[in-house]
Amino acid sequence: DSGATPEAFAADAIFVAAPAPVVAAPFEQLNLPAAVIANLTRLGYHAMTPIQAASLPVALAGHDLIAQAKTGSGKTAAFALALLDRLNARSFAVQALVLCPTRELAEQVTQEIRRLARSEENIKILSLCGGTPIRPQADSLEHGAHIVVGTPGRLMDHISRGSLKLDGLATLVLDEADRMLDMGFFDDIAYVAKACPKSRQTLLFSATYPEGVVRLARQFMRQPQEISLPEQH
Ligand code: ADP
Ligand code: MG
Repeated sequence: DSGATPEAFAADAIFVAAPAPVVAAPFEQLNLPAAVIANLTRLGYHAMTPIQAASLPVALAGHDLIAQAKTGSGKTAAFALALLDRLNARSFAVQALVLCPTRELAEQVTQEIRRLARSEENIKILSLCGGTPIRPQADSLEHGAHIVVGTPGRLMDHISRGSLKLDGLATLVLDEADRMLDMGFFDDIAYVAKACPKSRQTLLFSATYPEGVVRLARQFMRQPQEISLPEQH
């Protein structure tokens, strides 16, 4: 252990004053394609939630980001719209990888990304979790996927057996980082992060900001900007 303290980390992070929106911020103020805005309207997403309003400009600009906000505050769209914006549907490399603590959460995130992705783009998203045979998952990966969502242990297994290749990865997301650490996934997350290209963007989402999350950020993120809205929905 480097003996790093949260204070030491805070000193070299770039802090962004989290804006406290008085009026709901429309998605239109982001520089997203009209078709994406139309899809959000169709889903009934008429305004950004506070964590989306604070995170999306930073994430869309390509910065690493640590975002802390309560459950139910809309964190999925805060990373999904950013990773989808960068996605090249014509390339069949895995371009985004989302780590989640449990199968249930991985499936929820997969559903939400599917809803947010434009249907005409034919984006392939795979959910890969433990507790089911690995071979059929490897076969699915063989056919290509743009986005992979899964639990750290199973993703580590796919990387080590060569079925998940990350050379084309642009975005790594650690969702519910605090819960993944509570479940003892630090080493598995570290393995996955080390297998990703150095040039990737890393987005970390968490409901709380314990020491383990600080450690993860120090080791695997590059000058992350921090947004903390712990009390807000
Ligand atoms: P979190 O990950 O912070 O717990 P979710 O991403 O699961 O929250 O979002 C919670 C719920 O809010 C989901 O049902 C999602 O579809 C909905 N939601 C997210 N963003 C918006 C928005 N801007 N407008 C309306 N509903 C939204
Ligand atoms: Mg979530």
